[in-house]
Amino acid sequence: MSEQAQDARRKDPDAPVWFITGCSTGFGRELASAVLARGYRAVVTARNPETVRELAEPYGNRALTLALDVTDGDEVRAAVHVALLTMGRIDVLVNNAGTGSFGAIEESDDAEVRRMFEVNVFGLAHMTQAVLPGMRSRRRGHIVIISSIGGIRAFPAVGFYNATKFAVVGLSESLAMEVEPLGIKVTIVEPSGFRTDWAGRSANEAPNEIADYADTAGANRRNIRDHSGKQPGDPVRAAEAIIKAVESDQPPLHLLLGKAALKGAHYKLDLMKRDFDAWQETTVGADFPEGE
Ligand code: NAP
Repeated sequence: MSEQAQDARRKDPDAPVWFITGCSTGFGRELASAVLARGYRAVVTARNPETVRELAEPYGNRALTLALDVTDGDEVRAAVHVALLTMGRIDVLVNNAGTGSFGAIEESDDAEVRRMFEVNVFGLAHMTQAVLPGMRSRRRGHIVIISSIGGIRAFPAVGFYNATKFAVVGLSESLAMEVEPLGIKVTIVEPSGFRTDWAGRSANEAPNEIADYADTAGANRRNIRDHSGKQPGDPVRAAEAIIKAVESDQPPLHLLLGKAALKGAHYKLDLMKRDFDAWQETTVGADFPEGE
């Protein structure tokens, strides 16, 4: 979009409204900054709204900052209610808030795993449910889900994180089929490693380590931590890519971000095809014979 068109949008009191979760750091913060700079209005949310105050301030009433922990159902409903009262509508919901947890499946702590599911899966689902009535009544809207390449292929040490993101992909693909006839679009964003706080402060570690997993989960735990801050993915470019997808006439259902995401997704497709082809006879042989 041209600078002129962005300028016109900046003066438009009715410019489209983005609602973004988890804006304190990382993708959420960069996306909030980028959409506001482009003239959109935005509801910039964070567990601690102080973290986004400075970001939103220059935009006056084009930006609304709200406290939002996505695991708190009352806060989710209240935030959507206040956003609709203040901004009039929500055009784009970005379900970004997310957290990680590192450890082999056997090493992982149940309470920590459940905490991660509350944020990554149920928080995201509740946000989506809260925003859908407004989008349905207007017969338009776009729901962006920040999943991960880890929602397409798995890695050792992040099995439960993979489980949350696989869950989110299943939920989002189903959602897309349900809401497409109602004029609502869904885009699942699947990044590989990006330079945010995700692999640092936002991820917890399983408390114990079992020596038998040292070469698999143990090695990958350390690998992810060691690469934190050195990932090839640029969150500013990711924000631009997400805006481009939302502004497109034909937005993708799946948007991979980063070279490793592209490589990982093709690896998974090839792996599945190999098994499907090699076992095809057994697969089709499991049905009743034709006519029975
Ligand atoms: P980040 O910088 O650590 O940001 C995570 C954000 O989620 C923070 O703003 C955090 O807020 C927020 N959050 C955590 N729990 C929350 C809750 N209960 N309610 C509301 N907000 C909460 O990491 P990021 O990479 O930008 O993460 C954003 C999304 O990208 C996540 O869904 C993550 O899984 C996904 N992702 C990241 C990568 C990567 O390599 N960076 C790759 C694939 C997918 P606080 O400041 O309050 O903790």
